[in-house]
Amino acid sequence: KYSGISRDEILAKRREYLSPSIYHFYKNPLQVVEGKIQYLYDEKGRRYLDAFGGIATVCCGHCHPEVVAAIVEQTKRLQHSTVLYLNPAIAEFAQALASTLPANLKVAFFTNSGTEANELALLIAKLYTGNQDIISLRNSYHGNAGGTMGTTAQSIWKFNVVQSGVHHAVNPDPYRGLFGSDGEKYVRDVEEIINFGTSGNVAAFISESIQGIGGIVELAPGYLSAAYSIVRKAGGLCIADEIQAGVARTGSHFWGFEAHGVVPDIVTIAKGIGNGIPLGAVVTTPEIARALTRRNYFNTFAGNPVCTAAGLAVLRVIEKEKLQENAFVVGSYLKERLSALKDKYELVGDVRGRGMMLGVELVTDRQLKTPAKDETLHVMDRMRELGVLIGKGGYYGNVFRITPPLCFTKEDADFLVDAMDYTFSRM
Ligand code: PMP
Repeated sequence: KYSGISRDEILAKRREYLSPSIYHFYKNPLQVVEGKIQYLYDEKGRRYLDAFGGIATVCCGHCHPEVVAAIVEQTKRLQHSTVLYLNPAIAEFAQALASTLPANLKVAFFTNSGTEANELALLIAKLYTGNQDIISLRNSYHGNAGGTMGTTAQSIWKFNVVQSGVHHAVNPDPYRGLFGSDGEKYVRDVEEIINFGTSGNVAAFISESIQGIGGIVELAPGYLSAAYSIVRKAGGLCIADEIQAGVARTGSHFWGFEAHGVVPDIVTIAKGIGNGIPLGAVVTTPEIARALTRRNYFNTFAGNPVCTAAGLAVLRVIEKEKLQENAFVVGSYLKERLSALKDKYELVGDVRGRGMMLGVELVTDRQLKTPAKDETLHVMDRMRELGVLIGKGGYYGNVFRITPPLCFTKEDADFLVDAMDYTFSRM
C-alpha cells in the first residue's frame, strides 16, 4: 500500500522546487512507485508493462533480486570513494567488464554517467593524439556537458555552447538520410570534413552503434568500418558510444559495434550496466590509457564499491539468465510482429533496430515521410491506458522507442503489439 504524497502534491512541488526544464511523458503524467522485473506499478497498484525502462536503467529488470542483494550487501559493508584505498569490488568488476570486450580493450576508467564517460573519452583522445578536432554524426546524442553537448547533433538537445573543433558528419540514416542505405557515399563526407574542415589530423570520431535518442537509427551498412579507417588514417581514435546499444541489448552481440565488424579504440558505457545505479565507464587499451597519467585525474564517486558491486551483479545476471540470447530471440520476434503493423497501417513508415532496441516511425505520408508527431503522442497515451509504457524519440518526436528490460518475454511482446495494433485500429 502506497502511503506517499499524492500525484497533485508531487506536481505542485515539482513546479515550485524543481528545475523548470525537466519534463515528463504523458499529458496526464504517470507516477510510478514500485518496479518488479518488467513491470512498473503506480500509486493505486495498477500494473504497467515497461517497454522503455531498458534504456534509462534496467537491463536485468526492475529491482532484480540479485542486483539488489549485491547493492545492499556492499552498502552495509562499505561505501566510500574508490581512489584512495584498495577495494575488491572495483577490481573484480573491471576485470569482468574487460572480459566482455574484444582485443586489447581492457583498461577501465569509471564515471557516474554517460555524459561523464564521453567527456573523458574525448579528453583522452585529444591527449593521446595531440589533435583537437572531433567528428560526430548528425542526429547523435552524446551528453549534456560542455564537450559532449558540442558533439551531440540535434538542435533540440543543444544550448549555444562553444563547439569549435567539432564537425557533424552527414548521418548515414537508411530511412531519412541523403544517400539511403549507401554507406560508402556517407563516408565521403567524413573524408571531406577531414580534408577541408581540419588540418588533416583529427582527435576522434565518436558514434553510437544505433542512435537512441535520435530515434533508433541504424547506421547504413558498411559505414562504420569505412569511417573508422578514414579517421585512423587522419591520426584519430574511434570512440564507440555504447551507452544505449551496449550490454547485450542488440541481442546478436554483447556490444553494438560488433555487428558492424569494427573494434573501437575507446568504448563508453553507462545506463543499463548499473541496472538503475549510476555507473559509467570508459574502456580503452593500456597504451591509450597512459595518456591520462600526465596529470592527476580524480573523480570522487566514480567506480565506488556499491556501484561496481551492482555492475558485477548485472554482468552475472546477464550470463546466468541468458539475457543476450533472450534479447535476440524475443527481440527478433517483436520486430517481426511490429513489421507486420507496417503492412497493415499506412501510418507506420518504418520499423527498425536490433534485439531489444527497436523503433517504429510514424508518418502521415509515406512518400513525403511527414512526421506524425501528434499521432505518436496519442498512441503513447492510449497504450499507457492499456497498460503498456513505450518511449519516443527522433528529431521530430515521431518514433516509438521500444527498449524493454532484456528479460521481456514473448507474451510481453504479444501484449505490446496487440495494444499498439488495437490503438491504430481505432484511430
Ligand atoms: N550517450 C548516449 C547514446 C545516450 O543515450 C545518453 C543518454 N541519453 C548519453 C550518452 C548521456 O548519458 P547520461 O544521461 O547518463 O549522461
